[in-house]
Amino acid sequence: MSTERMKTEEFWNPEHIVEIFWKGLAEGVIYARKCKECGAIEFPPHLACNTCGYHETEWTTLSGKGGLKSFVFTGVMNARLELEDRGLKYVCGEVELDEGPAINAVILGINKRKAREISEKLPVRVEPCFYDMGRYTTLFFELDE
Ligand SMILES: [Zn+2]
Repeated sequence: MSTERMKTEEFWNPEHIVEIFWKGLAEGVIYARKCKECGAIEFPPHLACNTCGYHETEWTTLSGKGGLKSFVFTGVMNARLELEDRGLKYVCGEVELDEGPAINAVILGINKRKAREISEKLPVRVEPCFYDMGRYTTLFFELDE
């Protein structure tokens, strides 16, 4: 097998993509995949393009900045216990990243009073918060104010 071929297979390995994504977060870098055909951003990174169906995407990075379009407080059934254990105030919401993709995310630092304040101003700007969960680092957001 040629070196070029091996590189290609490594490149297409989904495990590898997931690993690069998580390693990136630990270093404060948000990796995504960009479609070589239509330019759509796949985030979380995904091998093929969900927008046009093209099979090739390439690495790109995202600023993590975007707009919080809507949010909800979690209830008993969907609470994030690992956050509640840490005493964090948070909501779950839809964040539209500046580079295009919209994701469901955790936004830290929003209590009931803050929620009332921002609910009339949506979308509000958010920025990334690389949060060390102990065994891994994950991506949350916080208000950019
Ligand atoms: Zn595409």
